[in-house]
Amino acid sequence: MVSRFWRECLRSRRWLPLLLAAIAWTATTQAKEQRPPNVVLIYCDDLGWGDLGCFGAKNIRTPNIDKLARQGTRFTSFYVAQAVCSASRAALLTGCYANRVGIHGALGPKQKIGLHPEEMTLAEVLKPRGYATAIFGKWHLGRPPELLPTRQGFDEYFGLPYSNDMWPQNGNAAKGTYPPLPLIEGDRVIEETPDQSQLTRRYTERAVSFIRRNAAGPFFLYLAHSMPHVPLFAGSRFAGRSRQGLYGDVIEEIDGSVGEVLNALKQSGLEKDTLVIFTSDNGPWLSYGEHGGSAGPFREGKGTSFEGGIRVPCVMRWPGHIPRGRTNDTPLMTIDVLPTVAGLAGAPLPSRKIDGLDVWPILRGDRGATNPHSAYFIYYNQGDLLAVRSGDWKLFFPHTSQTLAGRPGGTNGMAGRYQQLPVGLELYHLKRDPAERVNVIAQHPEVRDRLMALAEAARVELGDKRLQRIGTGVREPGRVE
Ligand code: MG
Repeated sequence: MVSRFWRECLRSRRWLPLLLAAIAWTATTQAKEQRPPNVVLIYCDDLGWGDLGCFGAKNIRTPNIDKLARQGTRFTSFYVAQAVCSASRAALLTGCYANRVGIHGALGPKQKIGLHPEEMTLAEVLKPRGYATAIFGKWHLGRPPELLPTRQGFDEYFGLPYSNDMWPQNGNAAKGTYPPLPLIEGDRVIEETPDQSQLTRRYTERAVSFIRRNAAGPFFLYLAHSMPHVPLFAGSRFAGRSRQGLYGDVIEEIDGSVGEVLNALKQSGLEKDTLVIFTSDNGPWLSYGEHGGSAGPFREGKGTSFEGGIRVPCVMRWPGHIPRGRTNDTPLMTIDVLPTVAGLAGAPLPSRKIDGLDVWPILRGDRGATNPHSAYFIYYNQGDLLAVRSGDWKLFFPHTSQTLAGRPGGTNGMAGRYQQLPVGLELYHLKRDPAERVNVIAQHPEVRDRLMALAEAARVELGDKRLQRIGTGVREPGRVE
């Protein structure tokens, strides 16, 4: 019966267009099913855990991010690898602890180092799978042209090469020696010291245009806002509108940006084909007082290894794949983004060793999905291992940490002064004591020993500058003469 139908089809020319249409339809459907997802990764700068409506902010309105959270999942134990700009970004984009790839702290305008060109960024991982790639915003992984994002797998770049406070007009005497703040397109400086009140809007316009131009997909859009890193600037549509001063205005403008990006996805019919990740590079810069954000219920902020420094707000949405309206408290870290997205895209992992693991079962909300890492290691400075989190436990190693010690931060965009807090060998149970108030090391020697052994294994591989240990698995950053 069937074969007779097909014989008839082939014999009769009249059926031919129908047959071809059927073949074409099947091919497109299959291609669509196999098409890897677009990825939109929005990375704020110094946004605190408590600065969004959906994470408990009372005086900052973030309706678009809140909606994203209702349509997706809120991840409440999402970590950056280090509580500082360049190191945090190195980990996000390479899937490695930053010290593995030789990136420490926040790179200065005149430094001749950056991410090594041979390190594979997420953009480079995705390119062989046909992704169009772009970064709009802050790079901060090397200023020399040889180290800019266009050499690391990004087709398009528009933004600042480092932090927006690294400009000569910013007060502080050391900054007087800085070159003018460059706005870069591709690998060319197109403006010196651009009007910062326009940055969020300009990045957003680029992002929306990129989505529209690449609607045939797949694409990877990395929207790395310069805000709310000080000095703060809001565009005229947002300045003076929030109930939390300039800081609130800046966050509400970022929320408006998220709204425009989501709208562009919707209008291009791409909502169901796009994984959206919204998060921050580190916790709030508390010494700036009203110009810094809030770590919510957590202790301390940027520049520390307490939860307020490294735990950041995170929302992910991919309709039909990531559960709607859920909250997930499983620990995750930015190092896991690259291997997880690579898995979704069917892209091979970098040939060099990475630290992150595929955590897709957690993102998908699988019942009983657990974190595949034995621990997360929290490094800082030039490679000091300061803390380790394993399960609900976090062990600190002796070091000094900055703190305002309960005093208010600065006002009017000026920094208040930190004092140095000695931290000892301390153990906290984060489920029972998320604010890290009660050191329970004396009561749990077996936990202390287990976490110390995990840390020791990490030191062999990744080193520990504090103990003058050099790791066997650490690599050099990129350098130019
Ligand atoms: Mg930052």
